[in-house]
Parts: sequence; C-alpha cells; structure tokens
Amino acid sequence: MTAAAGPTEGQTILVVEDEEPIRELVATALRFRGYEVAEAASGGEALAAARTANPRLIVLDVMLPDLDGFALCRKLRAGGDATPVIFLTARDDPADKRAGFGGGGDDYLTKPFSLEELLLRVEAVLRRRRGSTAEPARLAVGDLTLDEDAHRVWRGGVELALSPTEYRLLRYLMLNRDRVFSKHQILEHVWDYGFAGDPAAVETYVSYLRRKLDDRDAHLIRTVRGFGYALRSPDPDAGHGQAVP
Ligand code: CA
Repeated sequence: MTAAAGPTEGQTILVVEDEEPIRELVATALRFRGYEVAEAASGGEALAAARTANPRLIVLDVMLPDLDGFALCRKLRAGGDATPVIFLTARDDPADKRAGFGGGGDDYLTKPFSLEELLLRVEAVLRRRRGSTAEPARLAVGDLTLDEDAHRVWRGGVELALSPTEYRLLRYLMLNRDRVFSKHQILEHVWDYGFAGDPAAVETYVSYLRRKLDDRDAHLIRTVRGFGYALRSPDPDAGHGQAVP
C-alpha cells in the first residue's frame, strides 16, 4: 500500500485527544491512509490548530482536560467554522450522542472503536462534504456487497432484504472481517445504546442472517466455539466448500 498517493492527499485532519496512545494510534492510521495529520492534546491546542492548520475534518475526543469536545465544537460553530467533526464518545452514554449531534457533530464513534471503522467514517464524512459526485460507500467481502449510503446488501448480485438489526450486524462483521467477536462484544456494538441485551439475541440474529445469506454451511459467518463469531473472507485457494478455520 502506498500511503502518499491517492485522492486523500493534502487533506489535513486534526486529531484532538489528550490520551497520547490513542491520539498516536489514530494519527498513525490516518497518515498511513495518506492524510496530513495535525494533533492537539487539549481543547486550547485544538482551537489554535483549527485556525492554523485549516483542517478538512476534526476527530474530536469528548473527554478533554480543559474544554469538553462538545463545548469546543459549539465554539467553532459559533465562530463560523463548519469543519466536519467526528466525536469520540464515552461508551454507551446516550447523553453523549445526543449532545454530539446537538453540538454540530457530523458523526461519532463510541470507544472502543476499530481503526478501520474510524477510517470508513472519515471517508464517508469527507465524501458527504465533497458532494454527491463521489462513488457510494461500499463494503465487499467475497460476493457480499453492502452499500452504506443506501443501506442495501447484495449477495452474488441478488439483493437481500434485511431488517435494521440484521443489517447492522452484517455491517459490523463486514467492517471487522476476520476478527472474532464474543456475543457480548457484538451486543455492545450492534444493538442500540441502552439495550441491556441477552447474548442469546445475538445467536438468534446470526441464524436469521445466515438464512438470508443462504449461508447454511456457515462458511461466511463462522462460529468460533467457546468464543463467538467472525465473518471470514473467502480463501481464493480453498476448494469449493472448504472453509479455512
Ligand atoms: Ca480523552
């Protein structure tokens, strides 16, 4: 992968996070994708950087030592700065999410998040800002395709009718393909915030999804005994029906 080339070149993204390991991780992932990155470790630094770096997008942690992310975003908006903002919010706090959108945020990610998901959100927000000319956001694993803008899913060119929960479950597994998740992890990421769910619901929805994907042999959504589930990328070298464990 060549990090410097590509349509993302020259777009500075400001990463605001006081926890250095997280800030570094996010900044490194964005640089690897070809973005210019500016970093700020406090609200004060972020306000200064928003003026000097003229960012195309701000990844903004809510919990900052001096000024919280929502207040910071409101300050920017009040000053006429419409730079898109993706908030990093505390886990499972619905008040955070409401405040985030009320405060003029464009999207939010709940900690802990995957870098892959962050990159997809960044691309989606930048694309929305650029206008509708860019191609739609699509995820693909094997013959599965998911359109994030239209919320539509196809397998082998045939469209599948999924419920909202089935769609979110599939999207989550596709975003994180080849990673194994416990039922609890899936519950936390797929079900709406505040849902004190039963892990058995995950089993139920995985079985619905398998049926709709015509995944009777469970080669796509693998059960990892004693742990959970993973959506596996098909192995092009494997024989037909041969799943690689
Ligand atoms: Ca923080």
